[in-house]
Amino acid sequence: MRIALDGPAGAGKSTVAKAIAKELDILYLDTGAMYRAVALYMLEHDIPLEDEDAVRAALPQTRLRVAYENGAQAVYLGERNVSTAIRENHVSAAASAYSALPCVREFLVAMQRQTAQKNDCILDGRDIGTCVLPDAEFKFYLTADASARAKRRQKDLEAKGQSVPFEQLLEEIRKRDYDDSHRAVSPLKQAEDAVLVDSTHMTADEVIAWILSRIKGA
Ligand code: C5P
Repeated sequence: MRIALDGPAGAGKSTVAKAIAKELDILYLDTGAMYRAVALYMLEHDIPLEDEDAVRAALPQTRLRVAYENGAQAVYLGERNVSTAIRENHVSAAASAYSALPCVREFLVAMQRQTAQKNDCILDGRDIGTCVLPDAEFKFYLTADASARAKRRQKDLEAKGQSVPFEQLLEEIRKRDYDDSHRAVSPLKQAEDAVLVDSTHMTADEVIAWILSRIKGA
């Protein structure tokens, strides 16, 4: 069984995907974490977005790998666990920028498909239903109002000790929505056969229960 869960930043995809993976005892792959790790590598090695040849050459050198430790996903660059570093706010914007490069997408999509071939799984991202797994058995597109998403992001960051003004987060979310949905390659968009879930007025538990009922009732 393969489940595609797409949607814009801050819609709650990872919370929902984690819970569904646990309930169905299948693998969860957070594809955004892979784009974040690549962006972190490029930032740390001063490889500019504009130099696509240099980015392409650096991709294998990232030694990016996804591991599962005590049931949770961890992302590594070589021997270094970057699972926390990739969540920094500045990495979000960089991930969105580098993810628009075709060479980055080809590299990561190939890894994602390999994982999905070997396991029952749920993948969350922007292009899972449209590009990575067009034949997924279940496809959901999870969204919410930009201000509801910015509020959730603010809470998440606060829980990690980072204080960012609401207006700034709203602006960042709107920019990422725009950039992610207007890029030339695999833009963020609802697959024609995906079920739309608007979580603006739903709790995470309600979304999880609703999606599980669709899967189990199928
Ligand atoms: O989901 P998350 O916020 O961690 O993703 C970070 C960025 O990675 C997104 O803004 C998007 O630009 C990019 N991304 C993507 N395709 C995916 C997953 C994430 O382009 N499948």
